[in-house]
Amino acid sequence: MILVTGGSGLVGKHLQDILPDAVFISSKDYDLTDLQQVRDMMLEYNPNVVIHLAARVGGIMDNMKYPVQYLEENVLMNTNVLRACHEFNVEKVIAILSTCIYPDVVDTYPMKEEDLFNGPPTPSNFSYGFAKRCMAAHIDSYVKQYNKKWCYLIPCNLYGEHDKYEEHNSHFVSALIKKIYEADDSIELWGTGKPLRQFMYGGDLARIIKYIVDNNIVKNLTVAPMEVYSIDEITNIAKKACLKDKLVVNYDNTKPDGQFRKDVNSSKLLSILKDFEFTPLGVGIKETYKKVIKKW
Ligand code: NAP
Repeated sequence: MILVTGGSGLVGKHLQDILPDAVFISSKDYDLTDLQQVRDMMLEYNPNVVIHLAARVGGIMDNMKYPVQYLEENVLMNTNVLRACHEFNVEKVIAILSTCIYPDVVDTYPMKEEDLFNGPPTPSNFSYGFAKRCMAAHIDSYVKQYNKKWCYLIPCNLYGEHDKYEEHNSHFVSALIKKIYEADDSIELWGTGKPLRQFMYGGDLARIIKYIVDNNIVKNLTVAPMEVYSIDEITNIAKKACLKDKLVVNYDNTKPDGQFRKDVNSSKLLSILKDFEFTPLGVGIKETYKKVIKKW
């Protein structure tokens, strides 16, 4: 039986479409920062596979405002879930980390799995990055000490119709889609438009997780499409996809750019999922836009 924590979030909702027999848990079912509630959840479902998605996740503003909560809640949730999975003999755990855990700067890009501990995470989401990095060390330790068949995936930034679209905690592409939708003539974006990013459609990550579960793969893998775009290029792709090519984009250089680049190399993953095709950014944004504007 498969149990998915964070089952009500962006990735969780995509997984619901393709893993209909799994159990999907939200914070309303169990607060994973509380070990007793995590144990109660395990007693109730007794899963043999746990896909651990739950996390406190948010945009740069929220991360900078609440670093203590990002560190504490994530460390508590991850520790409780892993400890309970050990206590209840869960055979397979797949945890989802983030490319935010990679070092702020490295010598050569794109980064690979081996670069993970070669420097501190970027200051703007240091606490979130560190908490997630801690989970990598935690899973590695369980594998080493108890020979577990547990692993983690490290995905790049995501977008999709199930993302949060409230200003204070949305991610860049989702915030951009909302801005484009609401704009008449122009939009304003933070920074210079120059930083480089990889963005993946949430449904692509869900398909990859399913493949890893179905095929019993036990490997720690970075997950991102090969394409790396500047913020300005992403904005142009999004304007086209949302049929608003003529919008003028103004950059507010007084606001921070965030990390300049954090692109990763997914060749290990692609050597396993040979025929996997990522959704092209323009296609994914177009589909997302069509779905979300129906709700606005
Ligand atoms: P999300 O949409 O923010 O959803 C977070 C999920 O975690 C929700 O189901 C939420 O439940 C649950 N949760 C939060 N606090 C909890 C608590 N105390 N107890 C129990 N459940 C709790 O996140 P997502 O975007 O799907 O992200 C899934 C995973 O991918 C996360 O581990 C994240 O770090 C990682 N990731 C995300 C991105 C991205 O761009 N979104 C990029 C890379 C990696 P409620 O709905 O009840 O609040």
